[in-house]
Order: sequence, then C-alpha cells, then structure tokens
Amino acid sequence: MSEIPGRYHYSAVMMGTRVELQLAAHQPALARQVFRQIKWLEDLLTVNRPDSALMSVNRGAGAHPVVVPPPVFSLLWRAREVSFSGGCFNLAIGPLVRRWKIGFSGDAVPPAEEIAALLPLTDPHAIRMDPEAGSIFLTRPGMSVDAGAIAKGYMADRICDFLQAQAVDHALINLGGNIRVISPPGAEGWSVGLQQPFAGPESLLGSIRLSQGSVVTSGVYERYFVHQGHHYHHILDPRSGYPLDNDLLSVTVISPHSIDGEIYSTQLYGMGLEKGCEWLAAHAGAEGIEAIFVTRDREVIIPSQRQFCFRPASR
Ligand code: ADP
Ligand code: MG
Repeated sequence: MSEIPGRYHYSAVMMGTRVELQLAAHQPALARQVFRQIKWLEDLLTVNRPDSALMSVNRGAGAHPVVVPPPVFSLLWRAREVSFSGGCFNLAIGPLVRRWKIGFSGDAVPPAEEIAALLPLTDPHAIRMDPEAGSIFLTRPGMSVDAGAIAKGYMADRICDFLQAQAVDHALINLGGNIRVISPPGAEGWSVGLQQPFAGPESLLGSIRLSQGSVVTSGVYERYFVHQGHHYHHILDPRSGYPLDNDLLSVTVISPHSIDGEIYSTQLYGMGLEKGCEWLAAHAGAEGIEAIFVTRDREVIIPSQRQFCFRPASR
C-alpha cells in the first residue's frame, strides 16, 4: 500500500488477509505485541469460527442474553445505533451474509423466498443491549450479528491507541486495506494507494497522501461471484436482501478514526453517488468524514480534500 524507503516493515497473514505494520525504527518486539493484540481482537469479533464472543451472542439468539467483554459491547452499541439510521449499514445482517456465503465456497444465488424469509431476522430493533449487565440479547431465534464491515477498522483504531501509548509517533497499520497512519509534526506523511477496481493491488488509480487518520474502502470488487452474467458482491442491501446495485464501484472514506471510515464507507456506498455527495455536504464537516467515489465508468469523484491530497496515477 505505502512504500517509503527506510521504513521497517512487519507483516503477517491474519483474518484471511495481509496485515502490515510499518514503523520508523526497527522494533520487532513491539511489532509482535501488535500482532498479538490483533489476534486477541480477532478471537473476540470473528464470525468465521464458533468460539468467538460474537458467536456466543449469536448462539444465544432467541434464548438468552450473553455478557460480552467491554470492547465488544461498545463496538456493537455503536454499530446498533448506526443500524437505526435508516441507511444501508445493518449490524443484524448476519442471516443474509451467512445464506449468501459471498467470498466463501458454496456461494450461489439463494431462492427469492428464502431471502424474503430471512429479512425479518435482520431487524436491528430486535437486538436488546443492557449497558449495566454488558449483555446482548438477539430476541428472535435465527438472528445473528456480523461485524465483518467494522471489525478491521475498530482494530486499526485500537492498534493506533496502543502505539501512541508506547510513544510511537510514526507508523502505518494496514489491516487488509483498512489503513491508519500517524506521523510526527512536520513529517511528510504517508502515501496510500487507491486501488484500480477489479485489478491487482499493485494497479492504482492514484495515491492518497495524509499524515494522520484513516483510509477505508468498500468496493464491489473485494469479494463477489458471477452467475449468468450478473455480478453479486458482498455488500448487501438490508431492504431487499440482495447485493446493493447502484452507480458506484467503490467508496473510500478518509476520516480521523477507522471505525468511522468503515461505517461511512458502507453507508455512502448504500446512498450512491448523488445522495452520498449531498450527505457529505450536509454532515461531513462536523464528523471529519471525506470520501472518494469511483463510479461504474471509472470516474474518480472527490468532493473535498481537507485532510488528504489525492494524486492520480500517471497513465
Ligand atoms: P471488506 O471485508 O471487503 O473490507 P467491508 O468493510 O466493505 O468489506 O464489509 C463487507 C462485509 O460486511 C461483508 O462481508 C459482510 O460480512 C458485512 N456486510 C454485508 N452487508 C452489510 C450491511 N448492509 N451492513 C453491515 N454489514 C454488512
Ligand atoms: Mg467496511
């Protein structure tokens, strides 16, 4: 993603993706601590293994509340609030994600009546959360929460907090394309590639230069399958139960925190280009959210560049 000579690179394959840490000094012990923390967070938040905290919540669906560790509770609280906003982001999307299996073996278009039958199980209002007990209750049998759209951003923020507590002031953490950077005052910052849709990670539309904050992309080319000429990707429309279909190939959000980048890349993708631009004009200043839209005809649209600078790749 970012290549500045003289930086120290550490990487590992985790969560089915490449995790990369860049530091300004050779600090292998610190890097090991970072990867250990990511592993710990993954063990809490994954839905791809039966033993995570999130899966214990899902197993309790329709039966009983489940007490979860405080970081899981606060992440799910935020995600549930966002799910009430009427946008595309929905924490309770789990039953549809599991049925579609997009990006996993066995993906196929489910029968329409199966999708219709799952929709009532994705109502975020049926998630009951008790802050005093720190517990979560999915009130209908068959419900499940899915943190796939936000877990990596949440982790990137936690890793940044950890690095800053260790007095690290120059670093980049890349969790499979969810990136956060920190730079000391006066440093030139980091360059983060904006990937060309449907091409390899080395093929870039351009680069984003920033010194602090996060870069997160939601795109239709991350995980998908093609059936009878139709392209089915992994961001689902909670209203229809089918993959979202609009004028965009991707939305990249630049924001101070990666969790916001995750939430708003999904929300803005769901809004489409026109409504997304309107939303940014009305709200983004206050929340520090900026975005880069890539349309189906590969046009790159950048409504503002307050905290970053975009340079198109030379062709
Ligand atoms: P990536 O893993 O490619 O970075 P995203 O952050 O865009 O993906 O999130 C996609 C994942 O989010 C899906 O694989 C699924 O687990 C989950 N998901 C799909 N649709 C929604 C939705 N409408 N709201 C919340 N999460 C979703
Ligand atoms: Mg996301």
